[in-house]
Amino acid sequence: RSLTSAESSAIERAAEAALRPRRLEEFVGQGVVREQLSLVLDAASARGRAPEHVLLSGPPGLGKTTLAMIIAAELNAPLRITSGPAVQHAGDLAAILSSLEEGEVLFIDEIHRLARPAEEMLYMAMEDFRVDVVVGKGVGATSIPLELPPFTAVGATTRAGLLPSPLRDRFGFTGHLDYYRPDELLTVVLRSGQRLGVEVDHEAAAEIASRSRGTPRIANRLLRRVRDWSEVRGSGRIDLEAARAALVVYEVDERGLDRLDRAVLRALCERFAGGPVGLSTLAVAVGEETETVETMVEPFLVREGLISRTPRGRVATPATWAHLGEESPDPSAG
Ligand code: ATP
Repeated sequence: RSLTSAESSAIERAAEAALRPRRLEEFVGQGVVREQLSLVLDAASARGRAPEHVLLSGPPGLGKTTLAMIIAAELNAPLRITSGPAVQHAGDLAAILSSLEEGEVLFIDEIHRLARPAEEMLYMAMEDFRVDVVVGKGVGATSIPLELPPFTAVGATTRAGLLPSPLRDRFGFTGHLDYYRPDELLTVVLRSGQRLGVEVDHEAAAEIASRSRGTPRIANRLLRRVRDWSEVRGSGRIDLEAARAALVVYEVDERGLDRLDRAVLRALCERFAGGPVGLSTLAVAVGEETETVETMVEPFLVREGLISRTPRGRVATPATWAHLGEESPDPSAG
């Protein structure tokens, strides 16, 4: 498993949960979303009503789940968690909706992956706090309307553009999370160090932050791996030497690229002569799912200017060749 691109396992999710900020004021960075959200929540509390539905969009690991938990905590409301892929049938969603308590926050992760019938049921529930439950089969089937208590849906998606507009329109507020700045990640690393009960030097935290590709989940993951190194091979304290040595072991380079990222770049340059090549072909070349490459690997490489997307496919840039330490082929020579 590569260290920066991998999806989280159950064990890792437990380790992450321990590092989650619990309140809005502990949530580092994302100043714009934080301010917008705090207005939405404060206004709703002042009115004594459940706030409007909230949509959170942004790349993985930037804090959508964390914010959903914070919304419930700030509202002092219970939280129910589900996800698009987990709700395969409208009946699954009906069961969840009909058991919600008044004011409950319903978090739907990967909401863009809801099945169509469930999505349609959700429109109605969000708009009118009502669902139609179908009882029986065939000609004898009847649909019974069921009133729901007011609740707040919080949807998370990696790309708001993937949502059908009728669904998007039912959210009163959409917050876009963006990659974090290095100084923000530095704060995340220092705070996580405190929570883990380990001393982290400022330069070590800065080194980890600068290799975390703008993502708190990766910053925390690298911190845990550096902690392993320092406990086993170092002094137990996290200093610059420990950070650098551990990141060499885990093959995370100075720009935060890991083995999978470099494999993608190498395939692009060496097997496909710098492209253009389709994403799924690239994914096959490195033995990964297309979706993994598309959501976990490519966005960062594009942002870093290490891959360029063109209508004919992905192409290498001069920076790609430079990063691999190879000569860029002279385009005029061909
Ligand atoms: P995914 O959609 O992939 O589940 P996500 O956007 O929901 O990702 P979270 O699970 O909320 O991401 O966050 C990942 C980890 O990063 C959390 O465990 C949390 O500790 C940390 N984290 C996220 N955002 C922040 C933040 N603003 N301040 C401090 N830590 C954060």
